[in-house]
Order: sequence, then structure tokens, then C-alpha cells
Amino acid sequence: APRAGYTGRYAPSPSGPLHAGSLVAALASYLDARVHGGRWLLRIEDIDTPRSVAGADRIIMQQLQALGMHWDRPVVWQSQRHALYQQAFDRLAAQGLVYGCACTRREIEEAIREARLREQRFPERRLAEPKHAPAPVQEIADGPAAEATEARSAGLVQAQGRARPGEAGPGLAQSTPTAPEQSYSEQSYSERPYPGTCRDGLPSGREARAWRFRVPPGVEHYDDRWLGPQRQDVLEEVGDFVLRRADGLWAYQLAVVVDDAEQQVTDIVRGADLLGSTARQRLLARSLGLALPSVMHVPLVCDALGRKLSKQNHAPALDCSRPLQALETAWQHLGFAPLSATGPDDFWQRAQAQWAARYGPA
Ligand code: GLU
Repeated sequence: APRAGYTGRYAPSPSGPLHAGSLVAALASYLDARVHGGRWLLRIEDIDTPRSVAGADRIIMQQLQALGMHWDRPVVWQSQRHALYQQAFDRLAAQGLVYGCACTRREIEEAIREARLREQRFPERRLAEPKHAPAPVQEIADGPAAEATEARSAGLVQAQGRARPGEAGPGLAQSTPTAPEQSYSEQSYSERPYPGTCRDGLPSGREARAWRFRVPPGVEHYDDRWLGPQRQDVLEEVGDFVLRRADGLWAYQLAVVVDDAEQQVTDIVRGADLLGSTARQRLLARSLGLALPSVMHVPLVCDALGRKLSKQNHAPALDCSRPLQALETAWQHLGFAPLSATGPDDFWQRAQAQWAARYGPA
């Protein structure tokens, strides 16, 4: 039976046209919504205005339609929803869960370096190493996280093999990513948790640049429908994370939680690069009294260097003049055998039947 009230979504950032990697996430979320008899929404995540490319949203919409993926409600643009994010921010602030942070990227790196020196002298006071999660993509107060960090965490997601044996999604076995190209010593300090410098108040004479969420201690547990049980100690592994950036923009973490709740999204299906964000999003949702959607993180498409395909590393735009070929490729990346469909309609029929058998309602 279809699950009452299933709502899924696809939430691309309009930094360029869809590429082979973004199609995999779109395809999986679309199939999952359809086999559950649910709604499928399209949300344009243009909150990070410096990274948005004019017109990319329209191209993405055309590409989805050309591939036969149709959304069920009017498209939402994050750039038009500041009031919602502000409300949520104010509610968190009213609970004492937000604090101003004066730290620059350089100061954070310096604080981490000093803490490491101290930890060499006093090993019992060690600063936490990120243990389970893909290295968090720190939203440094200065602006967008480095793409290199994203690519590295993308590699880690698959390389770590975090799925429960025997319960791995079908895609995990097939793609053995190459090792991240950076050596450990080159890893940026920004992958270390925010050391909490401003947690108990701004240093005297300094002003807040960014605003951070005061992360509660403890381990966040949840089940990923593709990867199995997950856990993350957000305070130890990520630290207090940014809600509002120094450039005044809302952080992705806040916007996505607010939007998923406001759009009544019940089921998130997205790329594994966002696995490491889920625990943060759950903490925010819980603090705001919002429902926690179920999650499924599907395999990323990596280039020959093991980096996540992305617009920043020049992934070619999807060729939608041959929709069947694009769909088949994405489908097989999810670990399924070729469908040998005769056309897009036939593809969708066959794909839905197979997806339903594996991930559909019981
Ligand atoms: N906008 C994000 C991206 O394009 C996806 C956000 C999400 O699915 O939660 O990577």
C-alpha cells in the first residue's frame, strides 16, 4: 500500500546544469517517491547566491522534464524564503542555542594548531578526531566551504564502507573509489571541529561575524535506508556549526531543515556527500520541534581522481537529447542491471518495478 503522506524532494543548487552525478540522486529520489505513491517536490537551493549561476535553475528544470521527471507542486526557490529562515533562527536564539562568533578562518586554524600542540603535551586532553563521519564540511565564517573538502569527504563516504554487512545498498559494492588524492598531512584544519573559541562569549573588543548553533553533547543515531545504522557525535566531530555566515547568508544546514519541514518532506533521498550533514540537520530539527525525515544516501559518481563529480571540477552537463542513455547510466550507477528499455516511458515503468521490489513499501 502506498505510504500515506509520503513527500520526497530534489533540491539542486543552481550552480550549473545537471551532470551525471546529480542525475543519480534525482533519479533515486523520484523513483522512491513514485513507488510510495508520494509527492515529489523540486526546490532550487539558491541560498548561496555567490555560487548560483543565473539561468541554471531553468536549465535544470528543462533537463528534469526532458528526462520524464515531473514535480507535483510549484517549485520553491530558497532565495525567496529569508523570512522563514529568520524565524527559525530567532526561535533557536530564544532558547539560547545561538551565539555570535568572531573567529576568522585563520584564527580557527590557529586555535586548532595550538590545541594540537597542547594535546601532544597532555594527551589525555585530546581534541577529538572525526571518527565515523566523512570529514565535515566546515562552514567557515568566511564563505563557502572548499570544494576540495567536499570531494575528499565524498571519497571517504564510500571508502569507509559504513554499511552494515549484507545490508549494503546495491551500489556500494560496485564502485570502489580511488583514495582521496590528498595525503593526510595536507588535510585542511577546517576538517577539525570548531574548537569553541567564542562559545562562552566573544573575546573583548571583537564583534560577531557569524552565528553558530550551540551543539548539545551526545551521539546522534539514525538509520540510513541505503547505508544502514549511522552515528555521529556532532559536538566532537563537527563542533558548533554556522547558521548564519559572516557574509550574512543563511547556512545550508539551517535552510534545508526549515524547508524540508515547511514542505512537509517525509523522505530525503540524496547523494552520499551529504551523509555527514544529516546528524546536524537532525539536531536542528529537534531543537525546532520539527519532524525528522527518513534519509537515504545514494552513491556518488566520482571522476578518475576519485573526486565527486561537480560543476566546480567541470563535470560535463547531462546530454538530455539522449534521455534513455542518461537514465540507463544513472540507473546502473545505483547498482542495478541494465534495463534495456525501449524508450523513456518503458524505462520508468521497469525502473519503478525494480525499485519497488527493493525499496518500496513493504
Ligand atoms: N543543494 C544540495 C546539493 O545540491 C542538496 C541538499 C539536500 O539534498 O539536502 O548538493
